Formats: sequence, C-alpha cells, structure tokens
Amino acid sequence: MTPDLTSLTVHGALALLESKACTAVDLVDALVAAIAARDPELGAYVSLDADGARREAEAADKARAAGTGGRLCGIPVAVKDVLNVRGQPCTCASRILQGYVAPYDATAIARLRAAGAVMLGRTNMDEFAMGGSTENSALKRTRNPRHPDYVPGGSSGGSAAAVAGGVALCALGTDTGGSIRQPAAFCGCVGLKPSYGRVSRYGLTAFASSLDQVGPMTRTVRDAALLQEVLGGVDPMDSTSVAAPVPAYTERLTTDLRGMTLGVPREYVVDGLDAGVERAVRAAIERCRELGARVIEVSLPHTRYAIATYYVIATAEASANLARFDGVRYGQRCADAADPLDLYERTRAAGFGPEVKRRIILGTYVLSSGYYDAYYLSAQKVRTLIRRDFEQAFAQCDALVTPCTPTPAYRFGEKTDDPLQMYLGDIFTVTANLAGICGLSVPCGVAGGLPVGLQILGPAFKEEQILRVGHAYELARGEGWLG
Ligand code: GLN
Repeated sequence: MTPDLTSLTVHGALALLESKACTAVDLVDALVAAIAARDPELGAYVSLDADGARREAEAADKARAAGTGGRLCGIPVAVKDVLNVRGQPCTCASRILQGYVAPYDATAIARLRAAGAVMLGRTNMDEFAMGGSTENSALKRTRNPRHPDYVPGGSSGGSAAAVAGGVALCALGTDTGGSIRQPAAFCGCVGLKPSYGRVSRYGLTAFASSLDQVGPMTRTVRDAALLQEVLGGVDPMDSTSVAAPVPAYTERLTTDLRGMTLGVPREYVVDGLDAGVERAVRAAIERCRELGARVIEVSLPHTRYAIATYYVIATAEASANLARFDGVRYGQRCADAADPLDLYERTRAAGFGPEVKRRIILGTYVLSSGYYDAYYLSAQKVRTLIRRDFEQAFAQCDALVTPCTPTPAYRFGEKTDDPLQMYLGDIFTVTANLAGICGLSVPCGVAGGLPVGLQILGPAFKEEQILRVGHAYELARGEGWLG
C-alpha cells in the first residue's frame, strides 16, 4: 500500500526517501495536490512555488542518489511570509509589501537549503507578525484545521495550520511573544522558540529586534530537534547570534525523565485559565512525573507585569523597525506624491493595517520625550526582573511546565474588537521572549474539542532539556491525544 505522503513526519519522510519507497518529487507532488484540494478552504499559504519546489526536489533526488544529500535532503518546508526567500515574494501579509520580491535568502533559509530542504511555499500570518489569530493578515483568512470556525492562532497561523492540516510536513515560524508556540498549541502541532541568539535573524523582517526568533513547527518533537540542529548556530550577518555549540539534539532525546526536575510556576494558574486547558496540562505534568521527573512548585513573581512590559518594548522596537517602509525603498508607493512627507504619509496610511498603525503609535508614544522614562525605561527594568525570576527558578529545576495559552482557540471575530483581550492571551508566552530563554509547545489533549498545548520552558541555550521533556512526554502521550 502506498503511504499517504502528506501525513508523514519529517523522520518518516526521510526513512521513505532513504529506502527509495518514495522520491522528493513524490513528496512535492503529493503536497501540491493536497494544497490544491484543501488550501482553498484552509488558507494556510499566501504563495506557492510548485515549479521551483519540483526543480529543487529533482536536484535533491540526484544528490541523494549520489550520496551527497544533507540531513534534510528532499524535505519540503513551508515558510512564514516574513522570511526572505530569494526570488520569491515576501509580503509579511501586508499591503505595503505587495509586489516586493526578496533579493536574497535569510540565513535560516540558506541553512535549510544547505541541508537539502526544498522551499515549497510561504504561509499566512498576522501583518508584520503583530497579532495572535492571523486575523490581522491583509491578504486572507486562515482557518484552524481542527474546526473551520476557529482561528489558527498567530502570528505564525499559516505555518501551524499547514503542518496540522496536512499541507506541509514542517514549517518555519517566528516568535516575538509567542507566535510559534501559541499557533502550534491552537492547531495541535509542535512549535519551538529557540533561545534569543540561537538562530540568525538575518533576512527576517524585523518586528521587535530584541525579542524576535526563528524556529521550527513540526508534527513531532523529534522533528523539531532535527530542524533546530540545522537552523542553530552563529552567523556573521547577525551580531546578536551567539557562538555557542549546537548540540546533537536528536541524539540526546530519551524515553524517560529520570533525574530531571520540572518546575510548575505558581503564578501561571491565573483567573481566566480555561478549566479544560488546566485539566489537560495537569494530566500532562502527572505523566511527566510517571516518567521519572521530580515536580516542584516554583515562583515567577514578576509575571503579572509581563504583558505590559512586552507591549511597551515590542511596540517601541516596532515603531523604529517599521520606519523603513516609507514608499521609497520597498513595495508599494502612493501615486502622485506632492513631496516626500506626502509620499510617506499616504503610502503608510494606505499600506499598513489598523493593528500595525496602533502599534507604531503606541511605540512612538512610549519612546517620546517626557514619556520615555515612565514607560520604556521602566519596562526595561522590569524586563531585568523577569529575567532574574527565571534565573532563580532554573537554579532549582531543569525546565518549567506550564499551559501555553490560557484558553484554546476561539472563534473568528471574538477578540478583534478589543485588542487588549487579544494581548492578554499572550500571558504565558511573552515572558520567555523577554528573558531570552527557549520554549516549546507540545500538544497535550483537547478542551472543548480543540487542541491544548503544554509549554516547556528551559534556560537560555539549553534547548536539549526542553526537547528531551517534550519528546519523552510525546511518546508517553501516545497517538490518542486529540480525543
Ligand atoms: N501575539 C503577540 C503580539 O501580538 C506575539 C506576536 C509574535 O510573537 N510575533 O505581539
């Protein structure tokens, strides 16, 4: 019987390629057919490069036959439309970048290519990665593959929907305040946010430069470990990337958690935590205990300031980063400008959506003279306190286990009228970005029929610890997690 190539894990696909049970071209063809059949409804992709992917797959098949293929030789990857892929559009799901074609590969893309991966297409997202439901895309709606009336999460909603919805084996996302982990939790796939500095940001369109990270979204933790081995490492093109050795994560995975201590942060049981989410996460923590982990309670006392701190710092950095979209250098330009100021104003007024404008205005405000000390400087100080909370917690345990989100996915439109409600949903994810540590979301059950994510947080540059917890848990969880 021919296996369904669209439902494979990356490791499963590599095994089939290795045994010659299928070719890379077969994988691309199967995914392109699945996209044609399912994506008009799902809406995960904003652009597809079927011909280019087929050519790259042919080259990968030749390399494999010649014995020169890399670790991901012939594996098709979907890429969030915020990363530059040479010769392809990069819209950031914004009108202002329509028509823009990337002139070079982001380092994350170059590394995947060097390992033999095939670039399949680009996925939908919240405009400039600002949002948590992908409803802020100026291009299209992406649906949750588990229920068409529900959001896929965001901002990497297209990547999560593609992986969970059977139209990609794996994908790249980016995470500034949860945008890999939260959509992974909402759709029911695995998402890894590496430590700040672990993956180069070169070629990633900047949202908040001190928080942004690129990372893998996959169907299993083992697959995330493999992609992360390829993505990680220092890059001369990004001075914030760190020259720490990248361990062989896949070789360090274990089937039990003996000798590990897991911390459960007291402050992460908040008002408004969905009962079904709490139940699923508690059961997952119990499963980790059965696997041999010691579970202790820890405290992260500054958690309650995290949302405010994040939305000051992220908007401040965004207001500076997005100044480059002025109608002169990239993408769209308004017609018949009277003078440069008129050009900037009208291009930006027409090019940016409401959430992006809100954040530029907020960010400009918190940086403005007279308010800088009260907002931006205070936020930077609280950021240090949040980082110290984690340092103290990690002195007692190897990893933290928490819910990834306070609720499962919600219906379209439920939070669009009240941005604050949307922001509050980021409570469990933004802290990792503020502290620069790594985080993983692994599916751990359902609440009201929708997936729940177990978040595993680890110290900076200790991705092996959270991957180990996630993998052992995932094996013990079995296949029946989706109920
Ligand atoms: N939801 C958060 C925000 O809107 C996180 C976004 C992200 O990680 N890119 O800013």
